[in-house]
Amino acid sequence: MEDSSNDFEQEKREDEPHLTESWFLSVLNNSPDVIYRFNIQKGRYEYMSPSIRTLNFEPEELLAMTNEEVLARVHPDDRKQLISTLSEIDDTGKGAIEYRFLGKDDVYYWWCNHLVVVKDNDGKPIYRDGFVRDITDKKLKEASLQRQAELIEQSFDAIMEVKLDGTIESWNRGAAELYGYNQVETIGKSINKLLNPIFPVLWEKIQEELVSGGIWEGELKHQTKDGRVLTVSGRIQLIEKDQSKIYLETNRDITQRKIAEKVLEDERDLLQDVMNGAKISHLVYLDRDFNFVRVNEAYAKTCGYTVNEMIGKNHFDLYPHKENELIFKHVVEKGESVEYHDKPFIFPDQPERGITYWDWTLTPVKSDDKVVGLIFSLFETTERKRSEEHIKNILDNEKLLTEKLQITNEDLIDTQKELGLVIKKLEISNKELEQFAYVASHDLQEPLRMVSSFAQLLEKRYKTKLDEDADDYIYYIVEGAKRMKDLIEDLLTFSRLNTQIREFENINMSNVLNNVLSNLHTSIEEMNARITNDPLPVIKGDPTQIMQLLQNLITNALKFHGREPPKIHVSAADLGGHWKFGVSDNGIGIDPSHQKQIFHLFKRLHSNSEYPGTGIGLSICKRIVERHNGKIWIESEPGIGSTFYFTIAKEF
Ligand code: ADP
Repeated sequence: MEDSSNDFEQEKREDEPHLTESWFLSVLNNSPDVIYRFNIQKGRYEYMSPSIRTLNFEPEELLAMTNEEVLARVHPDDRKQLISTLSEIDDTGKGAIEYRFLGKDDVYYWWCNHLVVVKDNDGKPIYRDGFVRDITDKKLKEASLQRQAELIEQSFDAIMEVKLDGTIESWNRGAAELYGYNQVETIGKSINKLLNPIFPVLWEKIQEELVSGGIWEGELKHQTKDGRVLTVSGRIQLIEKDQSKIYLETNRDITQRKIAEKVLEDERDLLQDVMNGAKISHLVYLDRDFNFVRVNEAYAKTCGYTVNEMIGKNHFDLYPHKENELIFKHVVEKGESVEYHDKPFIFPDQPERGITYWDWTLTPVKSDDKVVGLIFSLFETTERKRSEEHIKNILDNEKLLTEKLQITNEDLIDTQKELGLVIKKLEISNKELEQFAYVASHDLQEPLRMVSSFAQLLEKRYKTKLDEDADDYIYYIVEGAKRMKDLIEDLLTFSRLNTQIREFENINMSNVLNNVLSNLHTSIEEMNARITNDPLPVIKGDPTQIMQLLQNLITNALKFHGREPPKIHVSAADLGGHWKFGVSDNGIGIDPSHQKQIFHLFKRLHSNSEYPGTGIGLSICKRIVERHNGKIWIESEPGIGSTFYFTIAKEF
């Protein structure tokens, strides 16, 4: 040993003159490493560099310790290994070992001890020179990294490190379990090819954020080895590793949570849809403090709000109602539902609606036997209630009306009876009147005939024999008697229509017309009248009366002629149940305002001097037609002519 050190000194002295003893001492004193010499034979330290002070020891303190005392400061877990390594090094001459050494401050320091053994000429180890470096920091770092790696490995989250080019650098167990690929299948592979990620935003955007030092967090989709698509909650960070940048990605599978959320959301939507679907029913879910939790559209609409406006509001803040609030409280306390029918309610904010009526139920919703909310279901019955009242009113009115009607009906029956009596009386009086007219006209004939014949006698014998006045008087008596005779005859004919009734028989109207024309032969010729006719049918009726009817009409047509010679046409038409006849002329015509009256008895439009007559002819016609179940009417234009129509029933 002596030799070797001398050699060394000589060597240095020659080649490197600065390697002096003082320089060595300076190195020993200033080295951050602890340098020591241990005498193996003596089992004691012979040199301890001052840097041992980093462990709060003075070099002398250690130099004073026995080998055992020093070994005792080595961590028990490392001691055995240290002893065996030291003995190995004693053999080999060189070696290094890491172990924990207890400082004076009772803290273990990690040491990395490089040892060189100095041997004597026999090869027996004399000194162990130790060069100790404090590696506590490095060790702690390593341990923390180890712990971190373990944690990453243990994590249920999929944690991976990805290079900037997208190749996977690390892949934890969580990732293997989540995606189905093991480390061998993933390390060095492209993450994009493997997981087929779908980000909610462009990757370039995310990159920008990461480069500027941010952390990106969001939901993305990944594909597993067996083709399933997962929704993961991802977190990407750009970190420094081994002097280069790398993405650290942490992904947590939220597929199930997403599905559950979707199911919940769907159920919520479904519930709202179902609630809204009840268009007429009002459905509400309230919490136990009567705040609206859910409200269907029908209810919100009735209250004049939107669904969202109502949610969160308190029922009794909106509609203060002492009685109802008590009912609600009772349901919460008792946990039993209640039901009401046609319960009146006045909307304080909609007084114009008046009293509204509601069928409603309030049902408690329980969780662990505690009421957590209330289902409030309402159905408006206002309309029904009002209709019922309306119907009741109608029924009441109807009852009153029926009573009144009964009375009126009884009155009517009485009136009818009275009317019947009056008609009877009238019929009797009519009959009497007709009888009277007949008797009167009949009985008047005899005295009239006397007056008339003596007046004619007077005329014959004394005309021109008395004075002029007497002649005039005689003339008036004769004329008056004539007119009275006509009147009485016509009246008799009229009366006879009802009193002398003959059986109806077949009548050939052509024959009737011929008879009439021959009766009126003189007048027709005098007036140069032309009379034409349609083919005329055979009808059923009273032959005398039918001839009278036709003769009266043709007589009038001749009498009321215009400037031209009369042109008369008799028409006939088959109406099915009746025959319709018409007698038209080109005479003076009748003003429409008089057309109805001319069928009344004694009604005339002209003086006797203009057109002589009695005013009975058309009344006779009307009565005859009516006796044959027919009608008579006139169509006429003054100055142009008239047509008298009449119908005769075919069957009686
Ligand atoms: P009379 O012919 O005796 O006056 P009628 O009862 O036959 O009585 O007729 C009543 C009135 O009806 C007549 O006075 C006349 O004014 C009017 N009249 C009847 N027939 C015709 C006719 N064909 N044309 C114009 N006026 C007529």
